[in-house]
Amino acid sequence: MMQTIVEVKDLNKNFYGKEGEVEVLKNISFTLKEGEILTLLGPSGSGKSTILNILTKLLKPTSGEVNIKGTIGYMFQKDHLLEWRNIMDNITIGLEIQNKKTPEAITGIENLLKTYGLWEFRNMYPNELSGGMRQRVALIRTLSVNPSILLLDEPFSALDYQTRLLVSDDVYKIIRNEHKSAILVTHDISEAISMSDQVAILSKRPATIKGIHDINLEMDGERTPIKSRKVPA
Ligand code: ADP
Ligand code: MG
Repeated sequence: MMQTIVEVKDLNKNFYGKEGEVEVLKNISFTLKEGEILTLLGPSGSGKSTILNILTKLLKPTSGEVNIKGTIGYMFQKDHLLEWRNIMDNITIGLEIQNKKTPEAITGIENLLKTYGLWEFRNMYPNELSGGMRQRVALIRTLSVNPSILLLDEPFSALDYQTRLLVSDDVYKIIRNEHKSAILVTHDISEAISMSDQVAILSKRPATIKGIHDINLEMDGERTPIKSRKVPA
């Protein structure tokens, strides 16, 4: 059996604003197992980012339990690449901050760059790359510190539709090939279904989980791989 690496139980989050106390999350519960992709689907303002921010401990829950067995890498809607650093130096920034820029870590990054078609671009600057490539660079930067769990907050929403399909397909492969677990936030239903093992649907405020749906079919106890989405030519 795959181990549970994220467990969220009866999570509640209230914010205090001009209107007083506002309930944003109400009794949110879900689990993520090793190697799984869980997608949080829900309308804008329903509390998706709040859930991720609680998982990374940027925010404290009002009540509830959060158990995480592993390290977290966070990828945002924008790529946040530094325009004055080349691609390689953008990717290694996390390692530098954590004082982990070892030859082994660099080799790992070089392999990722080669595997995902970015090797020739390593000495270029972000503005020389397309939006889709920039987003892949951001993902490799997130992977560089070798987190076991990836939190992806609408990572494709700044991309045009075609690029979005290509990049989401790539990201899906990267997560699977690198044996990561991930929580993906999106409001694109087809993206949610094509990329994940489980989809949790959030309602409007206060967000409750309306249902958790298993996307993957189990056959003989083995997980059937989700077919990668067909990308239009
Ligand atoms: P989503 O990511 O699903 O679009 P968010 O998690 O960003 O939604 O926000 C959920 C709700 O919580 C929104 O109504 C937002 O205005 C409110 N909210 C988020 N962060 C704060 C905060 N720091 N203080 C007050 N309200 C907040
Ligand atoms: Mg959000």
